[in-house]
Amino acid sequence: MMNGFGFGRASNLKVICNMEKKISRKIKNNKRYRIWVRDVLEKDNDKCTKCGIEGDCLMVHHIISLKSLINKYDFKNIEEALDCKELFEVNNGLTLCNICHLEEHFK
Ligand SMILES: [Zn+2]
Repeated sequence: MMNGFGFGRASNLKVICNMEKKISRKIKNNKRYRIWVRDVLEKDNDKCTKCGIEGDCLMVHHIISLKSLINKYDFKNIEEALDCKELFEVNNGLTLCNICHLEEHFK
């Protein structure tokens, strides 16, 4: 690991990861995102699309992940992200309960 090679590259990757986290946090804290979540829940009738459960355990899953959209468009700032149609495409969201959501990520 610490052989002097590849170490610089690893720390560059770390910077990119932090940027990604920063912008995704900003997106998730934005009002526009909360509206999108509500629209997706509405589209799916406030039910888990896999098991049909209703209630507080529901969350909205990105079919194309937020991370890959951030990588694809390489947003320089939150304004660019908020302008992205694909990011706020209702059909890119899927209502899932906690359990089905975990299964979706680990399948
Ligand atoms: Zn479910």
